[in-house]
Amino acid sequence: MTRDCGVSAMVFAALVVFAPKPARPQGATPAAADATALYALLRQTTVDPRQVYIVHGAKIERGGAKFFFDRGLVALFAPVGGEVTGAVFSGEGEVLLIPPNPVEKRNLNQFIGAPILEEHFVSAFMRFTDQTAQEILAQARRPGPDDPEAPAGFVEYWDTVARRFDPAYAGPILAGLFGDRSKPFFQSQLEGVEFGTFQITDDERLPEALSVGAVRMAGGRAFADLWCSFPSRPSEPLGVEAGMGAARVMSYKLDILIHPDNRLEGRAELELLSLSENARALIFQLARGLKVTAARYGQGQSLAIFQDESRQPTGSLVEGGFLTVLPAPRPPGTRYHLTFDYQGQVITDVGNGVLYVGAHDSWYPNFGIQSPATFDLTFRYPDHLALVATGVPVEEEMLAGGMKRSRWVSKTPLPVAGFNLGSYVSRERDVGSTKIEVYATREAESALERRRNVPTMEIIPQERGRVPPMPERTIRAIPTPLSPAALMDRVADRAVEAVEYFQSLFGPFPYPRLAISQIPGEFGQGWPELVYLPTFYFLPGRERAEVSPVSKGSDLEMETLLAHEVAHQWWGNEVGWKTYHDQWLSEGFASYAAAMFLARREGEKKFGELLKQYRRELLAKNQTGATIESGGPIWLGERLSTSLNPRGYNDIVYKKACWVLHMLHVLMAGPESGSDQRFIKMLGSFVAAYQGRSPSTEDFIRHAEKYMPKAMDLDHNGRLDWFFKDWVYGTGVPAYKLETKTRRLSGGRLDVEGTIEQTGVPEGFEMLVPVVAVYEKNRKVKLGLVPVGDSGGRFQFVVASRPHRVTVDGDDLLAAIE
Ligand SMILES: [Zn+2]
Repeated sequence: MTRDCGVSAMVFAALVVFAPKPARPQGATPAAADATALYALLRQTTVDPRQVYIVHGAKIERGGAKFFFDRGLVALFAPVGGEVTGAVFSGEGEVLLIPPNPVEKRNLNQFIGAPILEEHFVSAFMRFTDQTAQEILAQARRPGPDDPEAPAGFVEYWDTVARRFDPAYAGPILAGLFGDRSKPFFQSQLEGVEFGTFQITDDERLPEALSVGAVRMAGGRAFADLWCSFPSRPSEPLGVEAGMGAARVMSYKLDILIHPDNRLEGRAELELLSLSENARALIFQLARGLKVTAARYGQGQSLAIFQDESRQPTGSLVEGGFLTVLPAPRPPGTRYHLTFDYQGQVITDVGNGVLYVGAHDSWYPNFGIQSPATFDLTFRYPDHLALVATGVPVEEEMLAGGMKRSRWVSKTPLPVAGFNLGSYVSRERDVGSTKIEVYATREAESALERRRNVPTMEIIPQERGRVPPMPERTIRAIPTPLSPAALMDRVADRAVEAVEYFQSLFGPFPYPRLAISQIPGEFGQGWPELVYLPTFYFLPGRERAEVSPVSKGSDLEMETLLAHEVAHQWWGNEVGWKTYHDQWLSEGFASYAAAMFLARREGEKKFGELLKQYRRELLAKNQTGATIESGGPIWLGERLSTSLNPRGYNDIVYKKACWVLHMLHVLMAGPESGSDQRFIKMLGSFVAAYQGRSPSTEDFIRHAEKYMPKAMDLDHNGRLDWFFKDWVYGTGVPAYKLETKTRRLSGGRLDVEGTIEQTGVPEGFEMLVPVVAVYEKNRKVKLGLVPVGDSGGRFQFVVASRPHRVTVDGDDLLAAIE
């Protein structure tokens, strides 16, 4: 492809050039005292007009992505602390990348229409902590008198771009300079000829170092579409533990003062364990509304803090957080302390005594959920408020000046800690030695009251033509204020039932207590020992319908909300997940546990309706005309919500995973054993085996295999890979078509024979298809499981009497049945 990019057409005149200053060899770590000065410089670093070069056939390779700078101009950034951290290119270039596995190839194809990235670009903006500058310089030359002239405005244009992005890059680059230098960072923004602006990153600090993506808009929202993502070294196992690797936090001691105007002032004392012998940069998450005012190392040495100030998402590691640099690296295995003072606004008064803690997981300097830590939380707050937090309440006292103090200590390490407060009233229940508490406000937040639109008077319609006419009658409705607290007992009872039921499935409740607290907003969350439930969950059905943002069709989902969050105590909190690929182990199990709870409370019929609703949602078409389900495999986790499939994560990781677990349940029960025991034993022993740990999808598969009946061993190798390859690592909902013949046997019995044809799924898709005979009044008799693959399946059953029809059991299989 040839394209006039504007650079080559121009002629170089007398461009005054200076010899570049010799830069210090890249890779040496700057001195600690330099951090603040370096950061200030990084925030305004830009292209060096004296470092403009001609490239012709230059090439670099990053994590398997090959960049060709066919012809054009390159400018290097001015060195900062002796290091060049950026370069820009205008001209003709090309990038080539082949994803190493079918899942990533398929995902890439979805975004660009090809499984391989092969794109021409006209410009590249690169920031890095690696050898990019040296590599390019070695393949570049100074412009000579015969070279085309640099296009007017080349340096000025890139200067503007560099300065615009500096605040976003200052943190990540600084983290790289003070991090493990054997794990560099490289990021390029390319202006592609076909695909527009997109980004290729090779961040060796991440387990999936190589990623390609772009920001795209859909329905007025910006999505960071990740086209592909994988480890840059082929030997690297997929799904290794995420995190910066410099340290892990062992304990948090938080002292929080909440002022009457809801302003928060905090001190966080952290004990860390060093994991790296040369990394000194540590990144913490902290809500944007909070500002770190002081940081200390050990007994008092003050540390510099570099807080993300970007208002927009930048996608960088420091986004919505801060970075600090230790005075010196700590030998691996040693422990040290950090103290942070911070303050700001994260609590909002949403009216009628309802407060909202907007930053559930970043109201303290959070190092990440991957390493559980112990928490010792002390809160001081106005005494008219009730406060509830993770951990066990160990102290509470009244203070002078209308304030109160309470302290909460976690007995076991938790992935995250939270709190909630308001003008609450509460209820308590006991389930064995577990205390269940429910907290709700007497009134609902103002926004819900406003959303409510209650008719105050209704005229009863009359039959026309009646003689004599009836007098007109009216019913008056006097709207009473919404009162979440009114139904607290019902919520408490429901929670007790859920805890009891889940204990019978998954083993003992993992914590000494469970607090269920009302929050304004539209979703729930299941933190360890602390469940957040939206206000509308606490309202009676009719009032809920008046104010609930959840559409009418989702009443069933509403029914499962509390149970889902309670189930997270086992799935998500007691047992974590290894990487984003494995998050379905938390959300899928919480959803399936909630569906099982629905079946138990409301009957199998409701359970069936819920799963049918999930199936409809998965098979619904998105804007591109493809089904929601086809957006990608469960294994892609949060990456499933994209501009092409905005609800992908929610529908696939919650709802498809719920179906997958139901099918696993059905297949494990099978006609062979006919009981739930195998599946339930499998779940309980999984929780016991992975208590306090973060299992991967593979861990779960290996565990499930120990409990599979013989009939499930489709590949005769004792493995369940066939099942998970279809349903977790793959996409596609099969369609089945049956042909049956019945033949009368002696003794009045019937022989039912038939074939099953499978379509709509990728080659190699295998399934054990449940076949049922349907009799009068829709009574179903399970006949058996039929192995079906690319070439279809055959079955033969003997039945006692002639059924209305023989079909695939649509209640037990996520499929389209013809
Ligand atoms: Zn959940």
